[in-house]
Amino acid sequence: MNNIVSRKDQNNIAIISVNNPPVNALSQAVRIGIKDNVAAADADNNIKAIILCCEGRTFMAGADITEFGKPPLDPWLPEVVESIDKTSKPLIAAIHGTAFGGGLEVALGCNYRVAIASALVGTPEVKLGLLPGAGGTQRLPRVAELKTALDMVVSGNPVKAEKALKAGIIDRIVDGDLLEGAIAFANELIAEGASLPRISDNNVDTSAMPDDFFATYRKGIARRSRGYFAPEKCIQAVEAAINLPFNEGLKRERELFMECMASPHSKALQHAFFAERAASNIKGFDKSIAPRDIKSVGIIGAGTMGGGIAMNFLNAGIPVTILEMNQDAIDRGLGIIRKNYEATAKKGRMTMEQVEGAMGLLSPTTNYDDLANADLIIEAVFENMDVKKQVFTKLDAVAKKGAILATNTSYLDINAIADMTNRPQDVLGLHFFSPANIMRLLEIVNADKTAPDALLTVVKLAKKIKKVGVVAGVCHGFIGNRMLEGYGREAGLLMLEGASPQQIDAAIFNWGMPMGPLAMGDMAGIDIGYMLRQQFPADRFDEHAYRVPNRMVEAGRKGQKTGKGYYLYEAGNRTPQPDPEVEAIIIEEAAKAGITRRENISDEEIVARCIYPLINEGAYILEEGFAARPSDIDVVWMNGYGFPPYHGGPMFYADHIGLENVLKTLEDFTAKFGERWWKPAPLIKKLVAEGKNFSSLNR
Ligand code: NAD
Repeated sequence: MNNIVSRKDQNNIAIISVNNPPVNALSQAVRIGIKDNVAAADADNNIKAIILCCEGRTFMAGADITEFGKPPLDPWLPEVVESIDKTSKPLIAAIHGTAFGGGLEVALGCNYRVAIASALVGTPEVKLGLLPGAGGTQRLPRVAELKTALDMVVSGNPVKAEKALKAGIIDRIVDGDLLEGAIAFANELIAEGASLPRISDNNVDTSAMPDDFFATYRKGIARRSRGYFAPEKCIQAVEAAINLPFNEGLKRERELFMECMASPHSKALQHAFFAERAASNIKGFDKSIAPRDIKSVGIIGAGTMGGGIAMNFLNAGIPVTILEMNQDAIDRGLGIIRKNYEATAKKGRMTMEQVEGAMGLLSPTTNYDDLANADLIIEAVFENMDVKKQVFTKLDAVAKKGAILATNTSYLDINAIADMTNRPQDVLGLHFFSPANIMRLLEIVNADKTAPDALLTVVKLAKKIKKVGVVAGVCHGFIGNRMLEGYGREAGLLMLEGASPQQIDAAIFNWGMPMGPLAMGDMAGIDIGYMLRQQFPADRFDEHAYRVPNRMVEAGRKGQKTGKGYYLYEAGNRTPQPDPEVEAIIIEEAAKAGITRRENISDEEIVARCIYPLINEGAYILEEGFAARPSDIDVVWMNGYGFPPYHGGPMFYADHIGLENVLKTLEDFTAKFGERWWKPAPLIKKLVAEGKNFSSLNR
């Protein structure tokens, strides 16, 4: 017996409680403690019912992540769940907080489940590329309404106690004290001499299941789960619960679980999970530094970004003052914010009261003096150095002492912006992604003179506004956009070399990106990159790669917004249609560039040409110190650019391919296309020489 799981008897009820802070993860000690305590209580003649509950803030919230990737420790969770399934006395799980993953599987091994109203139950394993492997896929459909069970296993999303009650997953919602309620429930069972229901004895209720239920279900999730390995395995496991006797179903679940475990996807998704946690850990940071207080925020510019940025703070209950150049711009900006909120309310994800509450926290102004009390001011005006400098000069004059001054610039030199003020220690970058109220990524740019406490403040604030913050250094495009350049460049060159926009986009889409680079260009607006390039010396860029996009913009083909870009768009329809005019432009430009077009560009070449620059540039960024660890780069690309999480981000993907193979391809491309863009980063060479990979640099 151990003191992580303890037993206390009240009359003839044994109360077994788990105390393994912070989330009562199912570590080896917890598994042993539950198994032994339940067995002992079951064997005790004085005991008539057993309650399994947890101390602290939650019921068991899942596996112990520190055991991930290590040899399994006895007893396995499936063994524990099967052992408690066999008790001869009623065993009741008393749930508060989150009964997730293994926690819910333990509860499903009990005869009854009671919960407080705020509790959540769920099986999030699929988000790590796995399935609930301790009987969850077999018991959940045997106790819950089939569609709810399937949704829970396949989506990984939790359900609230009330829905769980309706679906049959829990037996009672307890008002007031959970333990008292559970004891009362146990006493009722004892008094009734109730029989012992075991979920494992049930059959799945398929009486209302249409013949095409699973086929329709598969179709329904096809888009969301495209490319992912585990969702299909989850479905197969639930099918087994219908088609096989319980014990056979458990075996099938185990086989499917092992398939998931062995898939590269689960490793990548676990990497994604740990990478996100690591990102908020600022490397080499003095733990005694205290963050500043952020109680109010100022935003300059209520355009595409400013409005979205404001919504993040309003959603977190932080008042925002938003400044624009004139009343018209304010009216337009506020109108868009309100429209966004109202659309959310229409979808039922917000009440109108909440909409008014959020809008009530927003104060528009055209006067800089109104920003004097803001603790953080974020500039989101046009991407133009002169405009930014003017804004920061004004901010320096009005902002209170200690206020953090942030810029949302995508490319500009934040050190130069900071030097426009007399307080460069308070200046940093907060690079939000569009749409800023939705995209999770926030690049936090640590300028040369940024004070550590200012940096720490925004790293903590990122969490508060539900963003994944990643710290970057000041370089052209920071982490994400700096890497994006090679991706776009190669797409531009591949068109000239003979690949059509459709072929390039299909290859990249099929590889796993949400859309190809050219369809993305059409969506974002081809003119944005065009205008950006005007701001920098031409020799920064490849002399041919932008011929086609330049021609597009000069011909008024700016993308979806003009109804044509690399593709044609019918009014009101965002489906790209190939356009022979574009092909003619490409052929013309290839001839002007003296490029001989090839027939034989393979999808494999397209993927390598577009993805390997990410890896190589990522390596340069690392060795130049603009990212703290490879996993930070992965977090940026997975959360800001749609890099498929099941590939784990560019750096993880490079390790998966094998760095020596990456190096070889980079060397081949150097030989074919020249050194300028393809020279392998010295860091890659060094790691290969040492027999290491990028993950060896993750801490
Ligand atoms: P936008 O043109 O939609 O909005 C800019 C707003 O700033 C306009 O409403 C304009 O009236 C206002 N403005 C301009 N000068 C001003 C001044 N001196 N004082 C007050 N208001 C002023 O531009 P955007 O797309 O929102 O971009 C803003 C910034 O965000 C740029 O630095 C851009 O690089 C960056 N950014 C944009 C995106 C994106 O996808 N749009 C993504 C990340 C970062």
